Amino acid sequence: HLKGKTAIITGSNSGIGLGVARELARAGADVVLNSFTDRDEDHALAQEIAEEHGVAARYIAADLSDGAAARGLIEAAGRCDILVNNAGIQHVAPIEEFPAAKWDAIIAINLSSAFHTTAVALPMMRKAGWGRVINIASAHGLTASPYKGAYVAAKHGIVGFTKVTALETAREPITANAICPGYVLTPLVEAQIPDTMQKYGMERDEVIEKVMLERQPSKEFATTEQLGGTCAFLCSDAAAQITGTTISVDGGWTAL
Ligand code: NAD
Repeated sequence: HLKGKTAIITGSNSGIGLGVARELARAGADVVLNSFTDRDEDHALAQEIAEEHGVAARYIAADLSDGAAARGLIEAAGRCDILVNNAGIQHVAPIEEFPAAKWDAIIAINLSSAFHTTAVALPMMRKAGWGRVINIASAHGLTASPYKGAYVAAKHGIVGFTKVTALETAREPITANAICPGYVLTPLVEAQIPDTMQKYGMERDEVIEKVMLERQPSKEFATTEQLGGTCAFLCSDAAAQITGTTISVDGGWTAL
């Protein structure tokens, strides 16, 4: 149902972003992949998606910690019907030990980059007469955990920014929503395991069951395919009146 649409997915050479790119391509969209690296394997991912789904797929490198580069990504793509702001990083530390540079990087990548990409993408959507903005927030956009100050602040921030985007486009065939995943086993989550093991003095399996999935009542990780499917749904006609809200894909986390 997305034939002829161009989707730009930030931070999509891995994890959820890559899963979203694959699902939108499966639905017929041309896709633009992105991360800050510019390796052969990044471009090969786009090639693989193009061949598998018979769509146009490109990889455009841009470091989204830089606002001008975030704007440049959308400009370089030239067209944006579907914008998925997904790029994100994490750092876990108590507030008094939280490195200021990490705070700034998390706010820049997880929050400010979405402002910059949205600012350039909205005029393109208006010109095309249709658009979808999908921000990948988190259960941490709705609730908090200790030691994730910057991440929780950025994710709450993007939920608010999503509502503003929806209100500014409310009279147009454009919607803006945030998806709030619980734990998805991706490289970002994998990278948190050693720190968390140390912090709580636990083994890997214990960290997964007692810390990560402690608040996920389903006791299962969500998958990147499920996140991609949720994005595809938000791009469907059935979702045309869904705007300015959050959709949790969290195994019941936020019901607790
Ligand atoms: P990931 O580390 O696999 O993917 C993050 C992506 O962002 C990668 O492609 C990475 O290259 C890219 N990225 C990082 N810094 C960048 C920069 N400066 N410029 C451009 N791209 C950059 O992690 P993921 O788990 O797939 O996370 C994707 C999004 O989903 C993040 O916003 C994350 O906060 C959110 N999320 C993840 C989970 C989870 O459990 N995995 C849960 C809730 C929300």
